[in-house]
Amino acid sequence: MFKSVSSLRTIQRTGLRYYTTESKDIIVIGGGPGGYVAGIKAGQLGLKVAVVEKRGKLGGTCLNVGCIPSKALLNASHLYEEANGKMATYGVKVSGVELDLPQMMKYKDTAVNGLTSGIESLFKKNKVEYVKGAGKIVGPNKVEVELLDGSKKVMETKNILIATGSEVTSLPGVTIDEETIVSSTGALALKQVPKKMIVIGGGVIGLELGSVWSRLGAETTVVEFTPRIAAGADGEVAKTFKRSLEKQHMKFHLETKVTSVQKKAGGGVTVTVEAVGGSGFTGTLEADVVLVSVGRRPATQNLGLESVGVATDKQGRVEVNDHFVSSVPSIFAIGDAIKGPMLAHKAEEEGIAAIEGIVSGAGHVNYNAIPSVIYTHPEVAWVGKTEEELQKENIQYKVGKFPFAGNSRARTNNDSEGFVKFLSSKDHDRILGVHMIGPNVGEMIAEAVLGIEYGASSEDIARTCHAHPTLSEAVKEAAMAAFDKPIHI
Ligand SMILES: Cc1cc2nc3c(=O)[nH]c(=O)nc-3n(C[C@H](O)[C@H](O)[C@H](O)COP(=O)(O)OP(=O)(O)OC[C@H]3O[C@@H](n4cnc5c(N)ncnc54)[C@H](O)[C@@H]3O)c2cc1C
Repeated sequence: MFKSVSSLRTIQRTGLRYYTTESKDIIVIGGGPGGYVAGIKAGQLGLKVAVVEKRGKLGGTCLNVGCIPSKALLNASHLYEEANGKMATYGVKVSGVELDLPQMMKYKDTAVNGLTSGIESLFKKNKVEYVKGAGKIVGPNKVEVELLDGSKKVMETKNILIATGSEVTSLPGVTIDEETIVSSTGALALKQVPKKMIVIGGGVIGLELGSVWSRLGAETTVVEFTPRIAAGADGEVAKTFKRSLEKQHMKFHLETKVTSVQKKAGGGVTVTVEAVGGSGFTGTLEADVVLVSVGRRPATQNLGLESVGVATDKQGRVEVNDHFVSSVPSIFAIGDAIKGPMLAHKAEEEGIAAIEGIVSGAGHVNYNAIPSVIYTHPEVAWVGKTEEELQKENIQYKVGKFPFAGNSRARTNNDSEGFVKFLSSKDHDRILGVHMIGPNVGEMIAEAVLGIEYGASSEDIARTCHAHPTLSEAVKEAAMAAFDKPIHI
């Protein structure tokens, strides 16, 4: 069992701007969704905890330059698109629709600032010390912090939790200037709508931000190396998704490799591409802005890991066991800094499990039940295994599919593109995976996650009463299709 460490000492040599404060039970390095949630959990369980964050704001990538600002722009750009024509269908005539991009960015910033300052209040409520500065591990129980005010301090602690997250990567030879060649961070703060935008990488981030600027008027082309978009999603869903984005005027070059990205003297960028497969394209593409969204790397450099013997893998991710313990017993790691999907809710679950593990010896994350969502329109959401994974693993399965075209609420809302697909085991009907594309499926996936978490069968969901008329009836009907037969199709 965990024993609280009492304050060891307070040595202050402020003249040297270098001092040691009282000892903590745990110091969390990084105040993103993994780190700040772990900090709050530690406070709730009575640990003496500090969270060290160098950004000057809590919430990490997710709140500052990731999940939250991208969802704010997806919401605002969707409303703009609806007002710009679609609302007339409902008998709502809107005229003189104009884009006020500075106001849209202000709305996004207000959402971000409200949420990040909310975490500071939660820290106070749960007695979490917030240390503003860059942390470095200088011993198995010591963290040196270069404070944002320019001073330094060394903090002693029983345990250290690395929650430093991830950072943007680029392609070799491509320099991101965040104006014409942008990462996701720059794409969240463009000052004007580009006439033409090229998105390098057809993953979640590229598709979401490509959608935003496409809705606002940019002619958007996605260049993707592999033969498909939305890696990780079920193949059938990914195909339907691509068709849907094409209807929204986004263009795609799949099986196409970017060989160079050159800024032009008079402005704009030339992207040279080369086919790497049958459907690929070889030639040059012109754009005003190029978004490089080819992945992220763990932020584990300059953390002092080598000096204390914390092992990392080839990609720089901290190697941990099932309880998030690194090769040094007092040092733990979670979130984007370790293996697994780079998702905020995965980092949060790990943060809680790591702290519970430290306090009680038990703490667990079920990686089969981590949902993924793409917040475009239609949305895409999934949990568990795809058909391709089940086939590869030679697992016998049943398929139950139900289209939103058969769902009364979706039809009433004039928003009935997409379907729900259940995959359950052939022998026991246990849910193995659920894949959705359609309206609001990012919310609806929670039911499927709960089903997998509880080891439910598709019959369990099929026999559960769902309110009428709701979009979630499509989930019930897809479960019915897997277990027996749906009613409305
Ligand atoms: C554009 C975009 C959209 C996204 N959308 C979604 C989404 O919709 N849903 C979703 O689940 N995920 C989304 N993600 C991914 C999500 O943001 C990350 O998976 C999540 O933030 C990881 O959390 P984390 O706590 O591990 O790390 P981070 O959020 O990266 O936080 C780490 C923090 O540690 C700090 N730090 C690093 N080194 C030090 C140091 N030495 N000392 C002190 N502080 C340090 C950093 O400043 C940072 O604030 C998105 C990402 C991007 C870029």
